[in-house]
Amino acid sequence: MTDPKTLRTWALVTGCAALVGVACQKVPYTNRKQFNLVPNSIMLGLGKSSYASMLAEVPVQKKGSNNQTLQSVGNRISGVAKRPDYAWEYSLINQDEINAWCLPGGYIGFYTGILPVLDNEAGMAFVMGHEVAHATANHGSERMSQQLTLLGGLTGLELILANETKMKPAQRAAVLGALGVGGQLGVLLPFSRTHESEADVIGMMYMARAGYPPKESQRVWDRMSEHAPNSVPAFLSTHPTNEKRKGVLQEWLPNARKKYQRNKLPHDTLNTLWGG
Ligand SMILES: [Zn+2]
Repeated sequence: MTDPKTLRTWALVTGCAALVGVACQKVPYTNRKQFNLVPNSIMLGLGKSSYASMLAEVPVQKKGSNNQTLQSVGNRISGVAKRPDYAWEYSLINQDEINAWCLPGGYIGFYTGILPVLDNEAGMAFVMGHEVAHATANHGSERMSQQLTLLGGLTGLELILANETKMKPAQRAAVLGALGVGGQLGVLLPFSRTHESEADVIGMMYMARAGYPPKESQRVWDRMSEHAPNSVPAFLSTHPTNEKRKGVLQEWLPNARKKYQRNKLPHDTLNTLWGG
């Protein structure tokens, strides 16, 4: 993976506009500048088709209280993310994996295996915020741009554009891998530490603005350590350590608390949940 500094320098050199399709964007809250080679319309199309192929391979739980909670938490978080152009769909996948993901365009998957780690509605709101942040901060597009730069820039992009609708298995695996959901296909390129910490911060801001106590974000990482003390789940493989993540969240906590106080939900969101 190319060093992000090199990429930033390169983006600066091209003046962010010298090449067709190159765009400089700012990430919500952190205001980090990023550059994306892949147009939004392409990313949304990739998200939609990847979601369909992901769901075709897993048991999706469409009924029950857990799914109802997922839908209401998802709606609250996406409500503050202000991306009406995204589809915002939430699927509860009945598999014992500690995992969740969000594809470009707002297609979200939560595995039932992660519910004990979330413990309550606020815990789910944090991870929902984290996943939504990957999408709103264009992390998939940014990572794909980094890979395309390695593959030969626009030639690589052309390859993906030309094959967007009828991709060969290897190309599909590469795209899914770049989007962070290719584990089942044997290709998983995890998000970088920068992306993970950024998604944590934005996710905590989203949960607070949606009325959930932001402190619960740090407790999620405590529970993650308890549930997976020895094994590192694929979802976390190159992620920052849970302690480091808590530290980053701590810096933003006062700001998040103000947002929470203004938007606090009337019901108890820290009750231990999960039924059928
Ligand atoms: Zn993540």
